[in-house]
Amino acid sequence: MLCLYHTFGCKLNFAETSTIAEMLENRGIMRCGDGEIPDIILVNTCSVTGEADKKCRQTIRSFHRRYPDAGIVVTGCYAQLKPQEASALPGVVIVAGSDRKNSLPDYIERWIADNNAQCLITPLQQMTAFSPSCSRGDRTRYFLKVQDGCDYWCTYCTIPRARGRSRSASIEEIVAQAEDVARKGGKEIVITGVNIGDFGKGTDKGFIDLCRALDEVEGIERYRISSIEPNLLTDEIIDFVAQSKRFMPHFHIPLQSGSDEVLRLMRRHYDTALFRRKIERIRRVIPHAFIGVDLIVGARGETAQEFERSYAFVESLDISRLHVFPYSERPGTRALEIPHVVSQEDKHDRAARMIALSDARLADFTGRYIGTGRKVLLEHSAAGQPMGGFTDNYIRVSVDAPAHLDNHIVNVMLDEAVAGSETVSGHLLSGEE
Ligand code: SF4
Repeated sequence: MLCLYHTFGCKLNFAETSTIAEMLENRGIMRCGDGEIPDIILVNTCSVTGEADKKCRQTIRSFHRRYPDAGIVVTGCYAQLKPQEASALPGVVIVAGSDRKNSLPDYIERWIADNNAQCLITPLQQMTAFSPSCSRGDRTRYFLKVQDGCDYWCTYCTIPRARGRSRSASIEEIVAQAEDVARKGGKEIVITGVNIGDFGKGTDKGFIDLCRALDEVEGIERYRISSIEPNLLTDEIIDFVAQSKRFMPHFHIPLQSGSDEVLRLMRRHYDTALFRRKIERIRRVIPHAFIGVDLIVGARGETAQEFERSYAFVESLDISRLHVFPYSERPGTRALEIPHVVSQEDKHDRAARMIALSDARLADFTGRYIGTGRKVLLEHSAAGQPMGGFTDNYIRVSVDAPAHLDNHIVNVMLDEAVAGSETVSGHLLSGEE
């Protein structure tokens, strides 16, 4: 039996798809290769915007047209939020909610045996199980899920309805997974979750305890903390990263708006003053840290004046890059009660201004390190192409290096920005060949 995988959305979804694929391979259902015909198609969906829902539906219909005999399995946030709609799509034989991903091998075996369609959704209030996931996301990095769900209920977001309440694995379980990655030769782990700063909620252990425990795992040379809410990024965590040799100087922090009024309408858990303090502390104790910031433009309530406030605030921060998302309406969210709606044209213009600001910040940040040597974890590339990789502080680098240095950390001199890309070209420092 062959299974074809298609994943939408966040890194967590990609990690979970890899975990499902491993579990299915252990039961003899192998990954479908190029040119092969799948018996099963697994679509791990996203529902972050109305557009995401549409893409999921289109993709499922197109798979069915192309492979009419394959059974289509739909899981993830769209499946959780719209199970009846997903079940009615052509070719769909299993719809499994967000907390059912690790049971998919059982559901698939049942379908193979009896050919009966299944729709398996846990009501939100009962969604308490934590499905572990640790997978090789790309050639060198592993994505380790430590937490799932969210209790914050920001007014524009459907994730708490799709993934349920905040819950985590134990520190012991996560350390065991990290040790397993080290045994497999993995060097870098990205710590992922929906709201990872909430790790351990309801227990006497928090995210900082998890970081300290992971820092002791022999063999793992790099950890990166994926997106963490600013109010949960404590000074203790920042100071810990500053002194750790394994936690990389790299933060990804959702701001969402630089206007206090819009933050209030979004029901975020901080204001711009707190956000500024976090950025300033990072810069004080880790001057070379990469700081990526998420930002939504054109949210309901973002008047022209509030956008200008937001722009001025972001412009005043010493950050490395913005991830700009035009606001998208989500049915069922409380944001729809906010009367001021931003036109598509204004959203587009605001996104363009923020993206231009982001490009300038990134060029400035990478420019500070041209002519300096930094450690890069090398990744094998296609034959004839230079190797790629990231510096400790998340600058993308391309470098000519022998193939045996794949998955090795080496010293690279950063030479110059590659025109039209976010990459810096470099060369190996002597002694690294
Ligand atoms: S913190 Fe807010 S935006 Fe992030 S997942 Fe939770 S509810 Fe959604």
